[in-house]
Amino acid sequence: EAVAEDVAIRDDWLRSSSSETTGLVPMLGLGVCKSKLEWESMSVRTRTGAAVPRAVGRFRGADMHLVRAIEEEMLEISNPITFDDIASLSAAKELLNEAVTLPLLIPEFFVGIREPWKGVLLFGPPGTGKTLLARAVASMSDIRFFNCSSSVMTSKYRGESEKLCKVLFNMARHYAPSIVFFDEVDAQVSRRGHDGEHEASRRFKSELLSQMDGISSSSQGGKNVIVLATTNCPWDVDEAMRRRLEKRIYIPLPDAAAREEMFRIHLKSVVLGDGVDTKVLAAKTDGFSGSDVKLLCRDASMMPMRRVILNKTPQEIRDMKVWGELDAEKIPLLPQDFDKALEKTKPSVAAETIAKYERWNKEFAAE
Ligand code: ADP
Repeated sequence: EAVAEDVAIRDDWLRSSSSETTGLVPMLGLGVCKSKLEWESMSVRTRTGAAVPRAVGRFRGADMHLVRAIEEEMLEISNPITFDDIASLSAAKELLNEAVTLPLLIPEFFVGIREPWKGVLLFGPPGTGKTLLARAVASMSDIRFFNCSSSVMTSKYRGESEKLCKVLFNMARHYAPSIVFFDEVDAQVSRRGHDGEHEASRRFKSELLSQMDGISSSSQGGKNVIVLATTNCPWDVDEAMRRRLEKRIYIPLPDAAAREEMFRIHLKSVVLGDGVDTKVLAAKTDGFSGSDVKLLCRDASMMPMRRVILNKTPQEIRDMKVWGELDAEKIPLLPQDFDKALEKTKPSVAAETIAKYERWNKEFAAE
């Protein structure tokens, strides 16, 4: 069984890569795995429990360290979150379902006029749930998620980032269906700096663009790869990249109803005293982003502890037995805890900036 699958994967690999560009040499000969135990140790176990053979066990060549780096630093299979953990944004969730999840799960339906987008861009103010949405999409079923943070892509492997990009897309195909995720894509593929631009990052950029062009032609094999990117500064994204991120979804600041839902989500694990009303809290937090609301909840939830330790010495605090009970009904969060936290927390996004997002949305969301 192992051997049969091995051959299938190798065929897939050979189809999807031209050995000249990858520099990776597929392992020759059958029987790469001598025992079932060895076979399993070379597998990546996905969320649904399925085992996907590790690429590391399969290929060798000059770029092995990149294969290993991608598996260890980018391929994420833990911490599943669901759409229910994300307040509101129902339109975005629906769009993501249609633009990313379904094409990856039932590629045979998304052909011809229904051909999936190669790339999807989530844009909007910081802290509105863009990264959460991407993670939730990847958590939904057997989809592999390659998290390409700019620290890994452009600094750690500086000088090699072009090659890293090639290997990355080959691995994404190996593990398909996959999402290749670029957080803050404006920083990685910026439109600025054409003159002083570092040679390596220019080459990375053009490699990424050509890999994205290869996506649609490789999807015929029935296994898809989709690029998902987020940005807080859509106007800074390189134009060629923007064009390839064909589907653009605006993730705005939460409205009052969304903020109320956020309060409910974030305060699930603490006890609320009389008079704490999530509707009132939502009304008092106009202009707050999702992460502002979370910070507020965090700060407020520390207030009961602050009350308990007031005027106590470190030794007295250590001797206290209440820590396990801090969340118990004895020490609930009170309305004044939120008022106090509200004095310190202010909306992090200015109104003029919001207008800028809306203008960009009008101009480019349906380019
Ligand atoms: P960004 O839009 O900048 O990618 P994130 O998705 O990283 O923002 O959100 C930052 C934090 O803010 C999250 O960890 C989460 O706790 C909170 N948050 C933001 N939006 C939402 C939301 N819609 N529902 C629940 N929590 C949210």
